[in-house]
Amino acid sequence: MRMQNRKALQAFHPHVYSLLETLLDSPFEAETNNLLFLGRTWPFGELAPVPLGSCVIVFGLPHPTELAKILNQTPERVLIVDSQIEKVWALMMNHNYEDLLKHPCLYLAVNTPEKLLIEFPELLYQFRDLQNLEWRESQPATELAERMGSVFLLQGFRPWQEELAVIQPPEQLKVLTAQLYQELLPATETAYKNYALSCSSGCAQCCHKGVSALITVTPGEWLVLWESFLSLPEKRLKKIAKYFRTWVGKEQKLLLKLLGYFAENMQQSHTSDFSLKHLELLAPQHNQACFLLDSETQTCLVYPGRPLTCRLFGASHFYGSQPYTCEIDWEQHEHIILHEGKYNHLVKADIWREELQSIHKHYPFKMPLALWFVTHLASDGDGWIDSPRLDYAQFKELLRLNEEEGLGLLTADSQEP
Ligand code: SF4
Repeated sequence: MRMQNRKALQAFHPHVYSLLETLLDSPFEAETNNLLFLGRTWPFGELAPVPLGSCVIVFGLPHPTELAKILNQTPERVLIVDSQIEKVWALMMNHNYEDLLKHPCLYLAVNTPEKLLIEFPELLYQFRDLQNLEWRESQPATELAERMGSVFLLQGFRPWQEELAVIQPPEQLKVLTAQLYQELLPATETAYKNYALSCSSGCAQCCHKGVSALITVTPGEWLVLWESFLSLPEKRLKKIAKYFRTWVGKEQKLLLKLLGYFAENMQQSHTSDFSLKHLELLAPQHNQACFLLDSETQTCLVYPGRPLTCRLFGASHFYGSQPYTCEIDWEQHEHIILHEGKYNHLVKADIWREELQSIHKHYPFKMPLALWFVTHLASDGDGWIDSPRLDYAQFKELLRLNEEEGLGLLTADSQEP
């Protein structure tokens, strides 16, 4: 292998380096624009250009010229998956990939087809920005893999490609989430009709528990909420923006900790360990009111578009035995669950959460409510941006901006919304 490739691989892709190092020989030979294998010449094909800002997944390490073309289009990230280790070895032996291997966008996944099959879903998860996902196949990698019946190409790469090609557009996410809320309505009404629960307009006890950073919101929930939020009068929107900027100023350390935590541990976000750690991070926040709570009337400013958590809280239970309410009704919930068992009229929160998750199969991320709002503050002026930003890239951009320039969203005044 070329010495400069060796060094770059070792420094930037140590896993691939150690794998390739174990290879002593390769049945492939690489020429300037061809690969020789099994007595045949396999010419490199050109890869189509990549739209700006997309995440790209390429099956098969391309020729360095083609890979450079992709990286020069400034994509968000580029993932090269190759299940033919010897071919990669031959290419690295004969071509100069040194600068490409150092590119910060590039992620290399080179492994046996069987191992890639296991790794791939996990890798895809890191490419959460599925709206802008672009798929490519490089020749001769595809031809070779097809000819050898590669399990990875046929059972891993292609099926995922097909599945992700039919991602619902964000508008559909909004429609499905709104439908889910409609379907939930009779269930909550039944609970309130059957039991003398304390939740009533003007109580809002649960909205005072540091919820802005606690409640996690999926993209579909955000779209519904954002529409509701933008329908507030202009003056109100500006007032909230002003208050919110100040709040962000005070809480930016916490917000960035949260953002980092969610970005790194998203795949565990359904586990109780994840929730516990999330709660730990929020410990100092416990008595803050949600910034969507009207401080005079103690009512929710986005009531028709509030997230699922707010709809479930107060009338639901989890895991069949865990009341999902505040201390006022806790005992009553326990009594109901204990005496009526699974035939009680409280809402089964797990079922609705699972429904929401299934709508988000292709948008597998969520963020604390406050972070969605941070990314929708207008960078100039004193209001909000108009169209929703749904891609995961916005959150990564926030982390980057903070590292390089600070958040830059802060003002000094403070007023309740
Ligand atoms: S979104 Fe509305 S209902 Fe939910 S916590 Fe905030 S103010 Fe309360």
